[in-house]
Amino acid sequence: MKLYNTLTKQKEEFVPVHEGKVGMYVCGPTVYNYIHIGNARPMVVFDTVRRYFEYKGYDVNYVSNFTDVDDKIIKKANEEGVSASEISERFIEECKKDMAGLNVKPATVHPKATEEIDGMIVMIQNLIDKGYAYEKDGTVYFRTRKFEHYGQLSKKNLDDMRAGARIAVSDEKEDSMDFVLWKPKKEGEPSWPSPWGDGRPGWHIECSEMSKKYIGTTIDIHAGGEDLIFPHHENEIAQSEAANDEPFAKYWMHNAFLNIDNKKMSKSAGNFFTVREISEKYPLQIIRFFMLSAHYRSPLNFSDTLVEAAKNGLERILTAVDNLRELKKTAQGSLTESDQKNMEEAGALVSKFEESMEDDFNTADAISAIFELVKLSNVTAAKGSLEYVDYLYDTITKLCDILGIVTDKEEDLLDADIEALIEERQAARKAKNFARADEIRDMLAEKGIILEDTRAGVKWKRA
Ligand code: AMP
Ligand code: ZN
Repeated sequence: MKLYNTLTKQKEEFVPVHEGKVGMYVCGPTVYNYIHIGNARPMVVFDTVRRYFEYKGYDVNYVSNFTDVDDKIIKKANEEGVSASEISERFIEECKKDMAGLNVKPATVHPKATEEIDGMIVMIQNLIDKGYAYEKDGTVYFRTRKFEHYGQLSKKNLDDMRAGARIAVSDEKEDSMDFVLWKPKKEGEPSWPSPWGDGRPGWHIECSEMSKKYIGTTIDIHAGGEDLIFPHHENEIAQSEAANDEPFAKYWMHNAFLNIDNKKMSKSAGNFFTVREISEKYPLQIIRFFMLSAHYRSPLNFSDTLVEAAKNGLERILTAVDNLRELKKTAQGSLTESDQKNMEEAGALVSKFEESMEDDFNTADAISAIFELVKLSNVTAAKGSLEYVDYLYDTITKLCDILGIVTDKEEDLLDADIEALIEERQAARKAKNFARADEIRDMLAEKGIILEDTRAGVKWKRA
């Protein structure tokens, strides 16, 4: 399996640190608002990478943090007159809802920065003891000059960067490129006690600490959006390698940006969408499929025309799966000679899917292999045996599942469930538990099921 490593600027064969295992760390969002569709891109892309490793039999330890202490969170908390943790907890919950809508699996662990402060303090102290960090009036800085390989990921030269950096008169840093590991408390801000006084950690140290704690000193894959290469990931490497004396991450994967109408997303330009807003316009499954229709290292343009195209493409796949599901009810017998020939063709397409995924997760080509399978299915399934129809159904749904595309039909699950819920609602009303009765009615309404209380009992229909 080959993947592009930002560190070496080439595609490399994937060799895990521990056989059969993958430890991956994906930088998560700062939780001060609903996530936007740009934030959703790394979530969808790296969830798909994870799903593919799992399909290949790897045991994946997927760690993704929530940055829950930060200037933007504090600002929002002050605007609303609530605590910073109230803001971060609220938007962690909202983020999880959006992730579920996008069918992004929960991480093995979702650590939160505020719950890992003790470990960060130990790491910072270790860096000070080794001469890689120093304290000035309650602020601890990383001494970039001391870390020989600084700039290895972003391919930046420290002297060039230094020449370009502006130094404020009040700056207490030894060097303009030194960055903050710990900052002192300011009035009205959350803070934690530390050997350098009350304060809070800088942003970069949280990922160094959490990836070590939940995966190990050397992790297989570290991932995030390409804007994080510098300074965030560069600084993470410096901190972790200086503290642990081990290589930090073997492979660095970065997704390109999602733009809107070919322009960078920006609040001030008014071309900024949250996942929540978009979900009112399109089922999020379409957004997921749209995101995977491009290679993750190519910029992706979000426009109605392109999302509509993704919608049509996805519909084509889902219709083929529906047809196969129907055929499974009537088809009979085992493989015929022509089924066998068609199965060989299908097998070659499955190989094409896998080869595409193993070539730096080329989901665009993997999706075109699914489209070819759909075409084959549309032409051959109706005349095929049950064994062949089963094979096609299992194959297409399995490949869709690797991409996180749900092929189950809700109606199939629902009929019996609806009846059971209606019965439960009737019982709740009898017991005068109107809250539960209303809850059930609302739950059904959300799924497009409308209840009518008639004299002959409760009737239901789909909206
Ligand atoms: P942030 O909350 O800004 O730290 O971002 C969380 C994740 O979303 C990071 O991996 C970012 O690189 C990524 N990200 C932010 N904006 C975009 C965008 N427009 N397109 C793709 N990824 C993005
Ligand atoms: Zn990070």
